[in-house]
Amino acid sequence: MNKEQIQKIRNFSIISHIDHGKSTLADRLLELTGTIEKRKMRAQFLDMMDLEREKGITIKLQPVRMEYRAYSKVDLSDASFTQGSFSQIRPYLRQGRDSQGQLYILNLIDTPGHVDFSYEVSRSLAAVEGAVLLVDASQGVQAQTLANLHLAQEQNLVIIPVVNKIDLFDQQRAGTEDQAQIDKIIQEMSQLLNVSAEEIIKISAKQGVNVEKILEAIIKMVPPPTGNPENHLRALIFDSSYDPYKGVIAYVRLIDGRVKQGDRIVMTASNKEAEVIEIGFFRPESIKTNQLTAGEIGYLATGLKDVSYCRVGDTITLSKARSEINPLAGYREPKSVVFASFYPAESDDYNLLKDSLAKLRLNDASLIYEPESSEGLGRGFRCGFLGMLHLEIVSERLKREYGLNLITSSPSVSYQLKIKKKEKGREMISSASDLPEMDKIEEIKEPWVNLEIITPQNYLGQVMKLLKDLRGQYQDTQYLTVERVLIKYQAPLSEIIVDFYDRLKNISSGYASMNYQLADYRAADLVKLEILVAGQKVEAFSRIIHRQKDYQEARLLVERLKKFIPAHLFAVPAQAMVNGRIIARETIRALKKDVIAGLYGGDYTRKRKLLEKQKKGKKRMKEIGQVKIPPEVFLKVLKK
Ligand code: GDP
Ligand code: MG
Repeated sequence: MNKEQIQKIRNFSIISHIDHGKSTLADRLLELTGTIEKRKMRAQFLDMMDLEREKGITIKLQPVRMEYRAYSKVDLSDASFTQGSFSQIRPYLRQGRDSQGQLYILNLIDTPGHVDFSYEVSRSLAAVEGAVLLVDASQGVQAQTLANLHLAQEQNLVIIPVVNKIDLFDQQRAGTEDQAQIDKIIQEMSQLLNVSAEEIIKISAKQGVNVEKILEAIIKMVPPPTGNPENHLRALIFDSSYDPYKGVIAYVRLIDGRVKQGDRIVMTASNKEAEVIEIGFFRPESIKTNQLTAGEIGYLATGLKDVSYCRVGDTITLSKARSEINPLAGYREPKSVVFASFYPAESDDYNLLKDSLAKLRLNDASLIYEPESSEGLGRGFRCGFLGMLHLEIVSERLKREYGLNLITSSPSVSYQLKIKKKEKGREMISSASDLPEMDKIEEIKEPWVNLEIITPQNYLGQVMKLLKDLRGQYQDTQYLTVERVLIKYQAPLSEIIVDFYDRLKNISSGYASMNYQLADYRAADLVKLEILVAGQKVEAFSRIIHRQKDYQEARLLVERLKKFIPAHLFAVPAQAMVNGRIIARETIRALKKDVIAGLYGGDYTRKRKLLEKQKKGKKRMKEIGQVKIPPEVFLKVLKK
């Protein structure tokens, strides 16, 4: 590719709140550009993992290259044409397709919308020049709309505002409520983005209405990449994966220079050299090519078997240019908010777990982990996650993609400890099992968050009541529009991560949404809740909780254990203990195995013998504490 051809590249992302239609819009773009044949098309094509399809959500960013012949030539060198101005491109949209319309390469990165995967979004945005910001016409601006908009603005991206799902409203019936709803959303967006209402494109991603306008807007408004192909290679690693044959595969955005198959490259931060054994782009499956040039998005297969050298955010250059370049800025590492331990259900699987975590981390840069061992559970890993959904997805991927059966410990936030003088102990812990005896501790602090909630005004009362229940402290109210309010609170992180999001959705008929960021640590009255199953402590169930909630939590936990632990031949008590005192108990009743069912009539002694034998058998099992807790129970117990 030469400089002129680079002028025909547009790199962009689609961002929005969850479920506002990003992946569906991507489907239409793939169709319109002929990237995917109609017969191969399926809804949310870019959600390629089974898990994404089952859950109906996007988890991973997904790049795809499309080619598109634009409607009409726009002379980009024309001084009167300023990039980023929609009113200037409007006349072009009215003109018919120009047979000599120029061919553009469009690199799209589809992104997830859920808070737990915002690191995928920020990495995607660093690889592009523009972002299509979608807002669902029936939902309006929500918390992740704002959060993602701010991420895009930080990167100085050109933003193309789009209202989606207009098919839900009958626009022909002017003056009706339907019409008013769309107008209201447009009003909101134009205030928020500081653009005029007519710059907002109204589409139905599902029915494909007005989708072509988005392509035209991208071509005319998003600037081509600015890098120089004649400079030394600088490629930003924004994602990666592992292939058994091709080794570590780096997903890259080339900022400067070129790279081709056979080149010697170096990853600047880890200082590891490799040979490019394959090079290509995404369609969305990998397509081999000979060379990538500044401005392009694609992949480099490195052949490396050791996954630790390839870090997202690192800069790749050619070995010979190693000392000539300044590495790119890379990414701010995301902060884990929830921690939990994974132990293999079969201890032989420890090495498999270790290897699987390393490979999964290539594909999920927000996952962190370190080895750990526990008395009862053996060797495992302490892992950090961006939220409960993230935890669930990671454990599910380990199971599906690597065939691992895992025991998952109770998730925990991290705590700051002030240890009494003369005593020893760690200052930061993220696991109940690391909590020392209470009499060694002067003070425990827990993390608090700054919480932003966007809600229609008519739900404000219920939302504020919910926040009060969660010990939230009110900060501020801002009216985004007459009807839509942004409220700010501070609240303990532990209250937010569990089920706050679901409760918020419930009380607001799905309209309220939230976003949060870690704020600080504050003193709290906390205790350690421990669980005994058949009289034996099961460390994985231990958790740190608030003293006022000890009975409530204890009850909930033993009830769930009763529900999920399968019955044995003997009765199994599940007990909850705080400070050495049992405060809740449930019994998992014994299976009634009718050993005398086959015997009728006469011989009473035989009957009695059998009954006695059964009793002994029961006793022996109990004595050796042979309670079987299936691995999936550990994760089930955590969920509502
Ligand atoms: P994402 O989370 O932003 O990627 O959203 P999806 O593309 O997965 O879509 C979420 C839901 O909205 C799916 O059930 C889609 O079928 C639906 N949807 C997307 N676009 C439209 C649209 O234009 N009209 C209607 N009625 N539904 C849509
Ligand atoms: Mg999606």
